Amino acid sequence: MGERKIVAAGSGAALRLAKGQQLRIIDPEGGQSGDLVAFSTDGSERLSNGRTFDYGGKVYLSTGDVLWSDRSNPMLTIVADDVGRHDFLYASCSLEMFRMQHGVTGYHANCHDSLCGALREIGVDARPLPTAFNFFMAVEISPEGRLSFLPPRSKPGDSFVVRAEMDLAVAVSACPASTCNGGAPPRPLAYQLLD
Ligand SMILES: [Zn+2]
Repeated sequence: MGERKIVAAGSGAALRLAKGQQLRIIDPEGGQSGDLVAFSTDGSERLSNGRTFDYGGKVYLSTGDVLWSDRSNPMLTIVADDVGRHDFLYASCSLEMFRMQHGVTGYHANCHDSLCGALREIGVDARPLPTAFNFFMAVEISPEGRLSFLPPRSKPGDSFVVRAEMDLAVAVSACPASTCNGGAPPRPLAYQLLD
């Protein structure tokens, strides 16, 4: 089992997964969401929320569900999940989002830059970034279709595990947006290769 590595609050990390390898993503302190994106090693396929909804037929994903690529191949399967609530609708937070919605004038850490920067370090150009799997992020959809954020349901030490269904470059961020983290300041996440 691999070493447990920390994703510092508001930052990101990228790694390569061989087909069949399993990655555990952990919320050490609880109540913290993050983003995950994936690309095939040859760069021809990217994570797709739309294809995942096409083939899964639902927007709430958990154990047994598959995250599909934009070329209709399975990329990742969720094989364990302590939390059972994640979002795959929202785009990663970005500098533009913080400026438009929160009045930020200078730089603000954001998942878009964290994911793109981490992937650049392993030689992957992630732009334009696909919609990320917003793990631990609790989004409610009203009968009228309105979206609202609830605090993440993850408790300290909760995790989920994905298995790579192809050779992948994967990036994970610890989200600095307080709106989707119960109003709390940014906290770290962690990950561990299982085999
Ligand atoms: Zn974010």
